Parts: sequence; C-alpha cells; structure tokens
Amino acid sequence: MAKDYYKILGVNKDASPDEIKKAYRTLVKKYHPDLHPNDAAAAEKFKEINEANEVLSDEKKRKNYDTFGDPNGGMGGFGGAGGAGGFGGFGGFEDIFGDIFGGFGGSSRTRAQTKTKGDDITIELSLSFLDAAKGCTREVVYNRNEPCSHCKGTGAKGGTAYKTCEKCGGTGQVQYTTSNGFFRSVSVRPCDECRGTGKKIIDTCKECNGKGYIKTTTKEVFNIPAGADTGSYIRKAGYGQASTNGGPAGDLIVVMKVEPSKIFKRKNFDLYVQVPISFKTAAVGGKVKIPLIDDTLDYTIPEGTQSGKVFFVRGKGIKSSRGTGDLYIEVVVEVPSKLTREQKKLFEQLEDATEIKQCPKMKQYKDNLESMYGKDPYAK
Ligand SMILES: [Zn+2]
Ligand SMILES: [Zn+2]
Repeated sequence: MAKDYYKILGVNKDASPDEIKKAYRTLVKKYHPDLHPNDAAAAEKFKEINEANEVLSDEKKRKNYDTFGDPNGGMGGFGGAGGAGGFGGFGGFEDIFGDIFGGFGGSSRTRAQTKTKGDDITIELSLSFLDAAKGCTREVVYNRNEPCSHCKGTGAKGGTAYKTCEKCGGTGQVQYTTSNGFFRSVSVRPCDECRGTGKKIIDTCKECNGKGYIKTTTKEVFNIPAGADTGSYIRKAGYGQASTNGGPAGDLIVVMKVEPSKIFKRKNFDLYVQVPISFKTAAVGGKVKIPLIDDTLDYTIPEGTQSGKVFFVRGKGIKSSRGTGDLYIEVVVEVPSKLTREQKKLFEQLEDATEIKQCPKMKQYKDNLESMYGKDPYAK
C-alpha cells in the first residue's frame, strides 16, 4: 500500500491546494538537509515530504491517488502491482476446466482446457396407459453426433496425431488485454486456433474428417418401469450430442407421455374407474367385474347403492417399485330407457308396493317441504 501523503504533510484529505502548499513549505524548511547534517532520519523525512507534495500538488496525480491509492492510477502495472481487479476469478480455471480427453480415458493429461459438454438430446416417448402402468421395454431410434471411436473424439488420427497448440501453449485459452482509460482489463477466451482444445491436429482422423464425431442413427433400448407417468423421464448420460471440442457427450433424455385411457383415470399410482351398474343391481346388490391393470376384481355392490357412490379398494391401483396405489370405483346407476308397455307396468307395480320410508331421500324432502309450508304440499 502506498504511503499516506496527507499524513506526511499533516493535512486533511479535503485540504485545499493552498493548505497543501503552506504545509509543504513549513515542513520543507523544518527538515531541510542543510539544517540536519548527517541526520538520515531527517533526510528520509525530507524525501517523503517532497514525494507527498509532488502528488498532492498535482491535481491529476492527487485524484488518482485518492481513487486508487496510486498516483499513477493504474496506467500500466495497476493490475499487477495493485493486485485488485482485472484478474477476478482467474485462479479458478483449473477447477472449472479439467482434462480435455478425460471423457475418453486418454492417458495424456494437460491441465486447464476449455472443454464443453455436448448438447443433451430430449425425446418424447408416447406410451399407452397400460404400458405405462405395467412397465414395458421400448426401443428409441434417434439421430446424434456420436463421438468418433477411431480417434477417441479428438479428430486426430488414432487419437494421438496432434501436438500442443502454439497459440495458447496447450491451455486452450487466450488472454485478451483491453485498455480503457485508467483500467486495464484482462479477459480469457477459448483459443480460436484449436477451438479451446489446446491441441493442434497433425494428421486428421479419416473416419470423422477431424470433427471428432460421426453423425449416426442410434437405437437405444429403454426399460420403462411400471408406473411411469406423463413427464417422468429417463436420462442416459453420454448418449447425447458429442462435444465440439473433445469434452464429454451430452445426455439422452427420454420424456414419457402417457396416452389417456377411456376406462381409467390416474393420480400418481391411484386408479379411478367409473362403472355403470343396472337399476336392479343398485337396488338388490350384486357382483360386478371391475377392470384392473393386469387382472379383474369381483366387487360386491351392496343393495341400495345410490348413483355416484364411490367405493375404495386399498392396494388395487398401480403397482410400482416406488409404491402401490389404491382403487376408487365410482358407480353410476343407469335407469333403463325406452321401456315397453309391459315393462312400464312392472315398474308401476314395483312403485305401488314401495313405501316412502324405503326411500329416505324422498321422505326427507317431503318432511322439509311440510315444515317450510306448514302442510303437505302434495295434498290438494
Ligand atoms: Zn475420428
Ligand atoms: Zn490453442
């Protein structure tokens, strides 16, 4: 850190040029070497006073000193000497960019290169409701830039026919220095000569023409676990696009899209099924076959079941490795329509034989009306 020139001259930081001049003159007289022969301390003091005056009496130098703590204001050498700014984060490069051919198990290890991961490939996979619920195997065919196996993705013949890039010295990075007024800033970019690989190909790989990857149509088999749902996905690391500069390949991401079912609805692993039942089954009860994912269930509907009633059956939903869902059965009573004259007569006979107390909702409704109007609304 630079010396405190204000302290040396014994003035405040906001001292006027006149105050500085006055302080300087007083001190110069006091410490002049002629008055202190053979006094090293006085000589040093005299030197300091002059140095302080030189800076503080010069408007531009004083401003730089106030701003940067340096009268030269970082005009060249600021980044190095001051150590503040310019190089922010520089030390971290080796951590961020590791070995360029690391992904292919290469033995030559050169530090600090700007490898980038290849792009991920996302594919949507449509599954039928049952396949998703039960689990299935699917082959996915897709196009990709596959890392060239002949050159291990280097683009160099045999994976070895390259030399260190001269422009960047094998680091894969080039520093650019730009000067802007007082500031000198240093930025780092991938080397354009070697695309950030740090390697210059001597002999090009014939299989990929030096690109390091080959356009291919790839087939991958996926085992879709039971219970897959829309939006669930499987990621296969390294099955995406090859990197353009020798980094690791991207990933293949297969996203499921489950087709809706006309029978089932599902919420996570729970199944919902709506089952129409006859008027007679609703009235007297009876067994109903309920579909399941890979089975059926004989469910006994109790007598007197109303339309819209939901029955709950534990553990009969979707069975997956992450849990088993439940089954919800909603019954819808279907009243027969387009009855024949004979059928209508049978219904009339049935109704005549039915008492109001056997129909609690109708009874409740009638009672409510009576209490509201104070009489039987049906009585004429
Ligand atoms: Zn190749
Ligand atoms: Zn280079």
